[in-house]
Amino acid sequence: MSQAILIVGAGPTGLVLALRLRRHGVSFRIIDQHDGPGRASRALVIHARTLEFYDQLGLSERLIEGGTKVEAVRLREAGAEVGTIRLRDMGLGLSPFPFALCLPQDEHEEILVDALAAEGVNVEWGTRLDGIEPAGDAVRVSLVRGDREERAAFAYVAGCDGAHSRVRAAIGAHFGGGTYDRLYYVADVKPRRALDPDLVVALDRGDFALRLPSRRGENERLIGYVPSDRETDPRFEDVRADAERLLGVAVAEVNWFSTYQVHHRVAARFRDGRCFLLGDAGHLHSPVGGQGMNTGIGDAVNLAWKLAAVVSGQAPPDLLDSYEPERITFARSLVATTDRAFQVISDQGLRGRVFRTLIMPRLLPAVTHFDAGRHAMFRLLSQIRVAYPDSPLSAGRAGAVAGGDRLPWVDGADNFAPLARLEWQLHGFGNIDAPLVEAADGLGLPVRQFAWSSEAEKAGYRRDAAYLIRPDGYVALAAPNPSELRAFTARWQLQSGQRRDTRREGA
Ligand SMILES: Cc1cc2nc3c(=O)[nH]c(=O)nc-3n(C[C@H](O)[C@H](O)[C@H](O)COP(=O)(O)OP(=O)(O)OC[C@H]3O[C@@H](n4cnc5c(N)ncnc54)[C@H](O)[C@@H]3O)c2cc1C
Repeated sequence: MSQAILIVGAGPTGLVLALRLRRHGVSFRIIDQHDGPGRASRALVIHARTLEFYDQLGLSERLIEGGTKVEAVRLREAGAEVGTIRLRDMGLGLSPFPFALCLPQDEHEEILVDALAAEGVNVEWGTRLDGIEPAGDAVRVSLVRGDREERAAFAYVAGCDGAHSRVRAAIGAHFGGGTYDRLYYVADVKPRRALDPDLVVALDRGDFALRLPSRRGENERLIGYVPSDRETDPRFEDVRADAERLLGVAVAEVNWFSTYQVHHRVAARFRDGRCFLLGDAGHLHSPVGGQGMNTGIGDAVNLAWKLAAVVSGQAPPDLLDSYEPERITFARSLVATTDRAFQVISDQGLRGRVFRTLIMPRLLPAVTHFDAGRHAMFRLLSQIRVAYPDSPLSAGRAGAVAGGDRLPWVDGADNFAPLARLEWQLHGFGNIDAPLVEAADGLGLPVRQFAWSSEAEKAGYRRDAAYLIRPDGYVALAAPNPSELRAFTARWQLQSGQRRDTRREGA
């Protein structure tokens, strides 16, 4: 008999998928070929949308306590400071987490592994997915631990197995794109002077480097190019002079040094039958904007509730068809955007020089001096702009909020608190029509009515309109009437497993 779900890979993507499936009460196994959680600090930036997802699991505060909020970006050109962009609370009014958080990936993963263990789930470390083969209503796999091989069958396999994904190879998904010529270094260092709480972006003719707060009160992260004549087995000493000059830092100690080749690739498919690709297994980007890990976590959040609903018989299998179009569209546009940004930043010709000497130092601080500019930048980087307008699960528009949008957060209303239940629910600001509330009650959909306010209007809501919210905090239907609500829940079989619960909050 087949088991429900196998998660291959316990990086951030697989761990978040596991945590969310656990909260949905679904059984699964999670394996990783390594002997324990990652020890490299790799991805550092956690964006607001990711913290909102963690908030649903009650984990955001733990991550914030362990990390450092980025307050400002300081721009340097040719070794001199040329401008500052204030980031402090740049998303004020847009998210309960109006900042970007720096937390090294190993500390981040440790928090997730602990949270999973507290829920009674342990990662099966030292276990490698070897063979994988679709077999009608199951996927047959062979798992290797030491010199033992286990053969098993699962209803679904989630490939969270990173850039060299075995699952991606098994489903034959072409990993199209390319690899940038230059080699990057990443170093965690202790500076001679006090730690810098800001993100420093340094640009020079054909050169580019970043400096970020890393381990709280201890280390900083430096990222940059390895000089092309020193790409064979480079050490920190090969990049020290350039790094110190470009970034204005004097390094006392090097705790970790690694190099990596940056790719820009998206798999041709994120799904084949019962196998899914998530995270780096499906897409790789340049590090511009710190989007890679956050996007993998977004994939996991998107798939978790759909898989949970299907394996527990609460939704038809074709609910899973929405995963690929929702996530691949975003991954493609992200890879294209970060690729373009990366090309411009690192261009050695006139275009790059104009960008580095005029646009970055002058225009960006001027634009972000105003709320509108800061908010536009926050929406872009934080991933709160990610939406699924073309999904089969999205319809309607009321005010500025359309089906497929992230549920807008309203300052003072605490309208994200009910999302911790990870279930379908109906929200509205003002008074939702009684027949619609009755229809929702009849379908077992919890209803949350919040007091109308100028903040709700600013967030884009229409007074008295109702919004059907998915378990991942995205709007499915905006302003449905009772028959549209009934038709949608019948199509996706949403009524099962939920109970009558209508609440008026602060009205
Ligand atoms: C040196 C370096 C620096 C980076 N810096 C940044 C950065 O600054 N910003 C940023 O956004 N991103 C950065 N990244 C990328 C970021 O680390 C990834 O986007 C992120 O780790 C993706 O998470 P994931 O869970 O999808 O994959 P991974 O973290 O790669 O996890 C995949 C897991 O699957 C396991 N696995 C693989 N194959 C198998 C198998 N056959 N059986 C069992 N287990 C398997 C692996 O052991 C691994 O634990 C960096 C990456 C590297 C290598």
